[in-house]
Amino acid sequence: MLNIIICGAPGSGKGTQSKMIVNKYNLKHLSTGHILRQEISKQTELGKIAHSYISHGNLVPDDMIIEILVNTIKDGTVGFNGIILDGFPRTVVQAEALEKIMESRNETTTVLLDLRVEKEELISRLMKRGETSGRSDDNLETIKKRLDIYEEKTAPVNDFYKKINKYTPVDGTGTVEEIFARLSAAIDARVSQLNTQNIPA
Ligand code: AMP
Repeated sequence: MLNIIICGAPGSGKGTQSKMIVNKYNLKHLSTGHILRQEISKQTELGKIAHSYISHGNLVPDDMIIEILVNTIKDGTVGFNGIILDGFPRTVVQAEALEKIMESRNETTTVLLDLRVEKEELISRLMKRGETSGRSDDNLETIKKRLDIYEEKTAPVNDFYKKINKYTPVDGTGTVEEIFARLSAAIDARVSQLNTQNIPA
């Protein structure tokens, strides 16, 4: 199975690139932000709680988001070659939980792809997105807070995956196609590295 984590600061292009990767590699797309926004628009209890965090640029509590992930993965990946996790894990606690979930399924995470983009460009991309997205968190004040929280809580997730040799940084600037080509090359390199390791000496 191909279990890919796509990581990167808000505005780094995770959502756009995930959609292209799922098509190319036949993966199930699992975006925690998207799931939460659906709950908000359906005005469920979960959605109401999530909105109080998201609209202020805060992360939703770990236990809540881990439960969402467990339930969504349980729905199955039949017919897919694996999953792409877009926006999860966002904390080290979530990363540890994910690795346990994978273990319980006799699977592993294949690679973490970290889309790297400079802060100034992230802010300008998110401000532009805010003109049309209708997202309550795409305004300057909330964007700055989300970027700070990313540095404080999410960047350590990269170190977690560095330690287990699954971290791959990818330049997230340029055209959508250029970035997609870099991500595809990184996935293919990782898969061929794993295949090589599996060949008996
Ligand atoms: P995204 O669409 O990935 O940018 O997520 C939008 C917002 O949803 C984030 O700013 C968080 O408030 C919340 N969210 C999404 N995924 C997570 C997660 N894994 N952990 C905590 N909060 C999350």
